[in-house]
Amino acid sequence: MGKTIIPYGRQAIDQEDIDAVVNTLKADFLTQGPKVEEFEKAFADYIGSRYAVAVSNATAGLHLAVMALNLKKGERVITSPITFAASANCVRFCGGEVWFADIDRDTYTLSLESTKALIESMPKGFFKGIIPVDFAGLPVNLEKFRELANEHNLWIIEDACHAPGAYFTDSKGVKQNSGNAVYSDMSVFSFHPVKHIACGEGGMVTTNSQTLYKSLSKLRTHGITKDNMAENHGGWYYEMQELGYNYRLTDIQSALGITQLRKNSHGVIKRNEIAQRYKASFEGKLKFQSLPEGMYNAHHLFVVEVEDRKELYNHLRNQNIFAQIHYIPVHTLPYYKTIGYSDADLKNSETYYSKCISLPMYPTLTAEEQEFVISKVLEFTYA
Ligand SMILES: *Cc1c(COP(=O)(O)O)cnc(C)c1O
Repeated sequence: MGKTIIPYGRQAIDQEDIDAVVNTLKADFLTQGPKVEEFEKAFADYIGSRYAVAVSNATAGLHLAVMALNLKKGERVITSPITFAASANCVRFCGGEVWFADIDRDTYTLSLESTKALIESMPKGFFKGIIPVDFAGLPVNLEKFRELANEHNLWIIEDACHAPGAYFTDSKGVKQNSGNAVYSDMSVFSFHPVKHIACGEGGMVTTNSQTLYKSLSKLRTHGITKDNMAENHGGWYYEMQELGYNYRLTDIQSALGITQLRKNSHGVIKRNEIAQRYKASFEGKLKFQSLPEGMYNAHHLFVVEVEDRKELYNHLRNQNIFAQIHYIPVHTLPYYKTIGYSDADLKNSETYYSKCISLPMYPTLTAEEQEFVISKVLEFTYA
């Protein structure tokens, strides 16, 4: 122990995954073949949404989602500061303004109260949308956010990158899978290797709206379509109806996504077993993310809070345990500072950031490795 590196997260690729990719390489299509559609359909079935649109990564998916909702220059959107920068950047890609509401001190997700207070402190119509993040794999209660959004005529894009396999229970007692888009307009997932499902790069946007589905599909491929054309010059003819991008996922990546997706439920169970062992070891000693009733956390991350975070980070690093920090609050990143966020009053987020550290969390982490991590954390915090 202590020699091989234990990262905070890692992908698990098995022979089935390798065979799927090799078979696709031998087939007729490398991109935009049958595997893309098969992956989209399997993903929509798994999550429980009507539609799923595969994209080159989640950042592209967030960009398309904001575009599909027609965000205009200067329009304002609220998100959490405790997220990966892409949750906010997608608004900037469209020329919009990002406003940050604070996180809840216990769940670490966007606070409904803080979001409501921010909306109500401004004139009617000031904001266009909200991008809540299922941080670390813990769902946001989107039913409550939807009520607030409806009152103020806002859209919701759920950043579900951490949460395939998570759910919350709504007021009718129905389990709502993260990303099923029942209470959001669209939800976005990532297939970056540190996330649950690894495609190398990749993402998915889910929705239940046919209009948004068509819009996303067109924007993903340059704004080009053969549907609803004003003219038709022959079999070759297509129209570029708006300015889109090349944000397509390949057949090779989709083949991998299909086999990876099949293993996700099992992976989430493993992640929850690991979380249980961490919680049992740290209960009463260290603060960790709370689990509100009726919720199931997909545990992309397991975060604890400590007073001497930097020292613990270095202490673990010396043992080849590569813990990580999630996240530097987005409003404090130099880019956001220079566009005027340096005075944002987001106390919970800043307090959280001063103490948080993400411990190793991935399905193939062995019990022995985890015991080693736990002992190194406790020996530091209770030395
Ligand atoms: C990883 C991540 C993204 C971006 O995903 P990519 O697929 O790398 O573009 C966006 N939001 C959150 C919360 C993430 O963790």
